[in-house]
Amino acid sequence: MMSKIEMKIPLVEMDGDEMTRVLWQLIKDKLITPFVELKTEYYDLGLQYRNKTKDQVTIDSAEATKKYGVAVKCATITPNHQRMEEYPELTEMWKSPNATIRAILDGTVFRAPIILECIQPTVCTWEKPITIARHAYGDVYKAAELVTEEAGECILTFIGESGTEKSVQVHKSDGPMVLLAQHNTDESIRSFARSCFRYAIDTKQDVWFSTKDTISKAYDGHFKAVFESEFEAFKDEFDKLGLEYFYTLIDDAVARVVRSKGGFIWACKNYDGDVMSDMVSSAFGSLAMMTSVLVSPDGKYEYEAAHGTVTRHYYRYLDGQRTSTNPVATIFAWTGALHKRGELDNLPELMEFACRLEAATLETMRSGTLTADLAGLVEPGFEATVADSWEFIDAIAARM
Ligand code: NAP
Ligand code: MG
Repeated sequence: MMSKIEMKIPLVEMDGDEMTRVLWQLIKDKLITPFVELKTEYYDLGLQYRNKTKDQVTIDSAEATKKYGVAVKCATITPNHQRMEEYPELTEMWKSPNATIRAILDGTVFRAPIILECIQPTVCTWEKPITIARHAYGDVYKAAELVTEEAGECILTFIGESGTEKSVQVHKSDGPMVLLAQHNTDESIRSFARSCFRYAIDTKQDVWFSTKDTISKAYDGHFKAVFESEFEAFKDEFDKLGLEYFYTLIDDAVARVVRSKGGFIWACKNYDGDVMSDMVSSAFGSLAMMTSVLVSPDGKYEYEAAHGTVTRHYYRYLDGQRTSTNPVATIFAWTGALHKRGELDNLPELMEFACRLEAATLETMRSGTLTADLAGLVEPGFEATVADSWEFIDAIAARM
């Protein structure tokens, strides 16, 4: 029996809900703890425990991430009205844990697909993953809106702390209108830019950034200017690594992306990132193969899968069925976090383990053992056997 790989500093482990909580335990038991003397600081972000602690556990887990630097998170339920009925013990419609964690860590979300040769992306020129870097604060997600019933004038006024005022006429109309005022903060845009450049250096990829500054000269123009000024501090490192920072208009970026080979980071404003990440992930194959990592401007990392708790499968599981839920993005959340811990703590064995587990997962799929969501997407002629989640994880464990 070989000895297990030791860790120095604990990973922040954020457990979650439903089907992904079931997979979480399986992944730990079968793929990680047989090989690694796993050190984690455990936070139960399952809905019941969040409720029991009045959501303090979510805050504590984010604070722990600030302290230790690396977290791995399971998908969690964001309660809505339907969930309030499903879980009558809930004392409040708790906020999305991801939103709470993001607000505390203040970062950018990077999403990249895991690609397989047997599943061709819809865009046939794509050879390498495209990473979407989505700014996760402000714009239309934090806007003030109005619908008016009569003719009138709208004026946008800013009142400075020192008492100065700045005003601009939005529109004077002779009938009812709809209005929206959105904002972003200089600090948030700056940290978005820094996170993108730091992630580019980490992953050795170019950065493309796109906005609509020809139309939105002040607002989007400010994003562009902030990126340019923040880039100054990274320029030498980019040059050394042969990397490029490239700015273009969003419509031009869209046209270039679909003609590209992939293999770069596409930095997007909040709304663009929301829309483009779904386009990119579905064009690459499946939501269940999308990795996601939140990177804070001061270099803290939180790894997760991009998908949710897969509720429909969970109810079939509770019914005694063995579902074929795809655990790949959750496995990669663990490997991403363990690899980062290894890198920060100078533990080459831990990094090596993370790479091996990723390779074993990919090899299992390449050899034809797939979960049901992927089996329908493979190229003609590729022979796939559909495995349930347990069989699939066992097949990976056997390779390990
Ligand atoms: P979802 O859990 O991502 O699932 C939507 C559908 O996508 C599933 O029903 C399934 O389709 C397919 N799917 C997603 N992941 C899969 C996987 N790993 N393997 C196989 N199929 C997969 O999204 P949802 O149903 O909208 O949300 C469920 C709960 O998750 C909600 O309470 C939501 O708040 C939460 N959520 C959490 C996060 C997060 O924590 N980051 C993100 C999104 C949603 P079929 O049923 O057709 O097989
Ligand atoms: Mg969306």
